[in-house]
Amino acid sequence: MRREAERLRARIDGAGAEEERIRADCVLDAADAGSVDEAVRALRAETRAAKEQREQVLATLSRLEEGTFGVCARCGAPIGEERMAALPHTRLCIACRRAEESAG
Ligand SMILES: [Zn+2]
Repeated sequence: MRREAERLRARIDGAGAEEERIRADCVLDAADAGSVDEAVRALRAETRAAKEQREQVLATLSRLEEGTFGVCARCGAPIGEERMAALPHTRLCIACRRAEESAG
């Protein structure tokens, strides 16, 4: 889990350099500017996803350290092994998840 956070961190840190590299290619082939924009957009979406994933991993780590992992953040009930296996980053039991969803 800790290693996963580090891996995601490296990917986020590398994204800036990766974007520069894509833009440098753009200078070599101006006709390709559209596809470069597309590549930059895709990279940014990927980086955003990696950041979100990293936040979830870090949140999971801190809950593991606090001993609240697998316990609902809202009602304190055990989340359940099956639900944790399906959604390892979840912080709510299924009843609270549904309550939050219907509350909008
Ligand atoms: Zn709950």
